[in-house]
Amino acid sequence: MASTGTATTGLRDITKMERIGAHSHIHGLGLDDSLEARQSGQGMVGQVKARRAAGVILKMIQEGRIAGRAILMAGAPGTGKTAIAMGMAQSLGSDVPFTMLAASEIFSLEMSKTEALTQAFRRSIGVRIKEESEIIEGEVVEIQIDRSTTGLGQKSGKLTLKTTEMETIYDLGAKMIEALNKEKVMAGDVITIDKASGRISKLGRSFTRARDYDAMGSDTKFVQCPEGELQKRKEVVHTVSLHEMDVINSRSQGFLALFSGDTGEIKSEVRDQINIKVAEWREEGKAEIVPGVLFIDEVHVLDIECFSFLNRALEDDLAPVVIMASNRGITRIRGTSYKSPHGLPVDLLDRLLIISTTAYTEPEIKQILGIRCEEEDVQMTEDAKDILTRIGMETSLRYAIHLITASSFVAKKRKATAVDVTDIKRVYSLFLDEKRSVQMLKEYQGQYMYNDIDMDDREPA
Ligand code: ATP
Repeated sequence: MASTGTATTGLRDITKMERIGAHSHIHGLGLDDSLEARQSGQGMVGQVKARRAAGVILKMIQEGRIAGRAILMAGAPGTGKTAIAMGMAQSLGSDVPFTMLAASEIFSLEMSKTEALTQAFRRSIGVRIKEESEIIEGEVVEIQIDRSTTGLGQKSGKLTLKTTEMETIYDLGAKMIEALNKEKVMAGDVITIDKASGRISKLGRSFTRARDYDAMGSDTKFVQCPEGELQKRKEVVHTVSLHEMDVINSRSQGFLALFSGDTGEIKSEVRDQINIKVAEWREEGKAEIVPGVLFIDEVHVLDIECFSFLNRALEDDLAPVVIMASNRGITRIRGTSYKSPHGLPVDLLDRLLIISTTAYTEPEIKQILGIRCEEEDVQMTEDAKDILTRIGMETSLRYAIHLITASSFVAKKRKATAVDVTDIKRVYSLFLDEKRSVQMLKEYQGQYMYNDIDMDDREPA
């Protein structure tokens, strides 16, 4: 980039850096209509069986047939467990809540573990609320306007206006909204609006009249509604999470806490009230439950109390789909002296559908690295890609991905447009991967503080 850095360029760069997250190249699961996984698609490569399984789960979620179930993604580090969960999140509808939680966060929040888990559960349940509303300021309104009397042309037409647009088009703004409400304009009414005062007069309301306009070949499409029905014809649907409802209704918190995230503990009475309210709404057809997804990464970090909470919470009527991920083999269940697969108690394991991820082949690693280069806007020669792929095979995919950005900096430094083998070699020597780091610790143990750890005792990766 040219060195004419301005405040704006700086801003743009920051935005871009944020966009390129570890999984920003993932746009879905890359499945076809029959839920078969393409070898690559939507940023996903390989891991075909796991993606297909994830697709089946996704279908079940979308059909509302899987609430309260749990899935475990099990596999070695860097085999795409989180990537697949992100792919699922992308494929869910925009109003289906998806919450992501690293198990360690449970221990770092200023609340009890079970409260933190309850909040995560309730964040992952949406309530789709249907409301009929009066026209209020700022909303889009649809009205029939006889333009001939507003001086805007001879043709009648249907306008969809926002208050803000009205201000510029008619300079009527809020006044008009107020008048619309006061005059109880109904769908199908033909009205005139006095530009100066914002007063509305009805010219009449009849189907015949509407048809007359249609017959005149105007582009008016009249919305018909039964006699006597007020201007409450707008159905507004919005989805909020149970957690948001809890916070808003919690007297000690208030909705501002939603912005700060500092919601603290919420009283169980508040939650009970919300549950009752939601049940009433469901009964009246005003609301429906949208079970979302709660993704708990590094689930082996949870302890036995959390696991028994999960066991119970999954049985609740209002439970989301819980997807857990673990890269551990047989290991100790935290809070006990028992060992079990993935560090999960067997009764919990028994409830889970397990999806396992496997190691990538060399061509798959190369393809993923290629996708990441594109995502990070890095040009790389084929030879450099081959070397990076070998590094990915011998160390880890994640390490190789990290080297992309680093090597592009090195290439830029020597004013090259594309990353070449020398740049890869340089960053490989600058930054250690896990194996070489362990090797170095072994060699230079004596020079570090707290060097009394037996290397064979280290946590398995
Ligand atoms: P860990 O157990 O260490 O948490 P993980 O299995 O969750 O590892 P990810 O974080 O999903 O691994 O993968 C590491 C990186 O590789 C991420 O940037 C991810 O987006 C990318 N990646 C992994 N698998 C794929 C894939 N199949 N297609 C495209 N990108 C992938």
